[in-house]
Amino acid sequence: MIKLALFAGDGIGVEVATEAVNVLKFLFDLNSIRYEIEEDLVGGASYDEYKKPITEKALKLAKDADAVIFGAVGGYKWESLPIELRPEKALLTLRYDLGLYVNLRPAKVYSELIDASPLKKDIVNGTDMIIIRELTGGIYFGQPRGIFNLGDGQRKGVNTLTYTTKEITRIAKTAFEIAEKRRKKVLSVDKANVLESTELWREVVADTAKNYPDVELSNMYVDNCSMQLIRQPKSFDIILAPNMFGDILSDEASMIAGSIGMLPSASLNGKKGMYEPIHGSAPDIAGQNKANPIAAILSAAMMLRYSFDMGSLAERIENAVTGVIRKGYRTPDIYSDLGIGETKLIGTKEMGAAIIAELKLKG
Ligand code: NAD
Repeated sequence: MIKLALFAGDGIGVEVATEAVNVLKFLFDLNSIRYEIEEDLVGGASYDEYKKPITEKALKLAKDADAVIFGAVGGYKWESLPIELRPEKALLTLRYDLGLYVNLRPAKVYSELIDASPLKKDIVNGTDMIIIRELTGGIYFGQPRGIFNLGDGQRKGVNTLTYTTKEITRIAKTAFEIAEKRRKKVLSVDKANVLESTELWREVVADTAKNYPDVELSNMYVDNCSMQLIRQPKSFDIILAPNMFGDILSDEASMIAGSIGMLPSASLNGKKGMYEPIHGSAPDIAGQNKANPIAAILSAAMMLRYSFDMGSLAERIENAVTGVIRKGYRTPDIYSDLGIGETKLIGTKEMGAAIIAELKLKG
């Protein structure tokens, strides 16, 4: 029996998670896989009901489940709350409390979607990389943090960028193990020229690399990396990055792939995982059936692969996504009117239904 926790969250999180769950239910039923999905509120929805972004009950649900499906949290309504009560706190709490230190963010360009990227076709075509982001350390969690009164009318905002050898070693190992199954290349990103915490990062990654002699390690400063990603995205395979750098670089990589609505993610601690699109709750398009559910649906595929060793089912979802893209179905974010009548503009629900129809077609 597969036990899933579902936290759809706020805004388009709810819309895209619904489509991902529909796809999963379809595949589970088709293959007689027994499952149980229990849902709870997180983010702004939880704050409205319980005055906190995540409750103990929801955290327990996540801890007891085999895997968590997450939509997205946040929205204009909750922006002025103190940081501890903001919807985004739910996400950080889940990542930290479940020990999800590995964040895999694949960014692949579908040749049919090349026109959706603002970059030139010959630059993006063939791009296929995974950003491996450290998820429970670094500046998002380091202490001290806060906004402090200095007593003279001045205030000081403080966040602390820390990394221990243990935190770096375990994420580096993951990157090298994944690289062994791909192009045997790891590019580690840091700012070792000016930040001691990432000077240590560079040193520990190099030490870890000694156990993986088949894998070639290179290093790049994050500022240079953000530039090279646009200049020659095809040259990247595995990018290993500290928490904040990985966060920023993966949003950048999403535009190489055409839209942030295309990029899935897996946050892992061994087989335990939380699966979510990399995008947020997109309040600008929420409730309008405009969100692209593909990132959420591909995140569900990652769940099947990483938490349940169901790689062939994951591939069926990935192939169905490729199939609907080939057939020309597009949500607004990936739509470009080529003037040849080959693309069909559809909404969130229709994209989910088209992917299920494609799965049915392939049996
Ligand atoms: P966002 O990712 O929500 O949206 C950025 C832009 O991309 C918007 O124009 C949006 O319409 C578009 N977009 C995002 N996902 C899309 C999809 N699936 N299909 C089509 N278009 C899509 O980022 P933001 O606007 O900076 O943040 C909005 C809220 O989401 C904030 O409250 C933020 O804190 C929160 N947020 C949450 C998460 C998360 O839950 N993991 C991640 C990032 C931001």
